[in-house]
Amino acid sequence: MKHVEHFAAQLDILKQQGNLRRFTSNVQQGRMIRIHDHEMLNLASNDYLGLAANIELREQFFDETPNAQRWMSSASSRLLTGNFPEYEQFESSLSQAFHGRAALVFNSGYHMNIGILPALADSKTLILADKLIHASMIDGIRLSTAKFVRYRHNDLAHLTQLLHKYHTDDAFERIIVVTESIFSMDGDETDLAELVRIKKQFEKVMLYVDEAHGIGVRGEQGLGCAEQYQVIDEIDFLVGALGKAMASIGGYLICHPVIRDYLINTMRPLIFSTAQPPICMAWSNFILQQVLQLKTARQHLHSISQTLQQAVQTKGFACPSTSQIVPVIIGDSSKTVEKAKALQHAGFYIMPVRPPTVPQHSSRLRISLTAQVRHTDLDQLIQLL
Ligand SMILES: *Cc1c(COP(=O)(O)O)cnc(C)c1O
Repeated sequence: MKHVEHFAAQLDILKQQGNLRRFTSNVQQGRMIRIHDHEMLNLASNDYLGLAANIELREQFFDETPNAQRWMSSASSRLLTGNFPEYEQFESSLSQAFHGRAALVFNSGYHMNIGILPALADSKTLILADKLIHASMIDGIRLSTAKFVRYRHNDLAHLTQLLHKYHTDDAFERIIVVTESIFSMDGDETDLAELVRIKKQFEKVMLYVDEAHGIGVRGEQGLGCAEQYQVIDEIDFLVGALGKAMASIGGYLICHPVIRDYLINTMRPLIFSTAQPPICMAWSNFILQQVLQLKTARQHLHSISQTLQQAVQTKGFACPSTSQIVPVIIGDSSKTVEKAKALQHAGFYIMPVRPPTVPQHSSRLRISLTAQVRHTDLDQLIQLL
């Protein structure tokens, strides 16, 4: 009992701080979500293009996929017998979309980020990372033997300063700069064109860019911010997650073929974990073909995002967002939770985000727009903010 009491006391502390987390059961249909029989507009999902919620799309996929191909388990790592044709088909589609560069997929974005960095970075590597990168990259860096220095969030001048400082240090053979394109909590974005320009001034630098929130929603074909800013070929490790706008599960890396081969030989979560079921690969491939065509949905998402960003600013909140992720930064955790409850009561499912997901005293409502949201929905929401 003594041990359980210890953990119960820890939970009590979280509760007092307004930081206790719990699962909530829910039922979803289209753009709506129902919790305890209360129906709300879903503004907490990462299904940015509304494809995960699209039932016709699912029907089409199953109609096109005969039962013989609906493998629900790969039963093994890809290096043993898990490398089903669906894997090679999806990677080949990715490769084709991304200018013929090599593609490698992973079980999740989290696996990807905790696996690639430790495989690549040794003690002669310096990692320079944006202060606000996702926990999965932090964990990846922690698992590596590299030296790790952070630069101020989205401050490329600070990054340049650090590069000048460390580039001449013989202790380092390589410097990997790690960032996101669109950041998951502030919804702001890195100037990728400028980042690439900086990289070109420093021989030792390689770029690692996570497009978890950019894939699907940016660029003519939805290939992300790298497509939008025409730098697909300049980013050494272009990674992203498939569980958001891509309405599936997994992570992908676009890289040089040598890097791909190297990771197949060294990346532990790839080697020691059972590969995703082939049906998931087939679905990811099916969705990719759709996403390449969804220009209108992307334009709509962009339009409602701009409307909401401007409204949040007009209401007097700081709003760093330039994307579909629109935070309303309140600060205090308990107040944020109360505000979220009030909005939920009014029919808008918006989640509070609290430390340690975001820095202390920056608790916020994280509004996550999807292409299913209409301008008229926003009018109501904006009044309530
Ligand atoms: C969601 C997310 C991940 C993790 O991806 P999963 O597929 O959900 O494991 C990685 N990086 C960023 C920036 C994310 O937002």
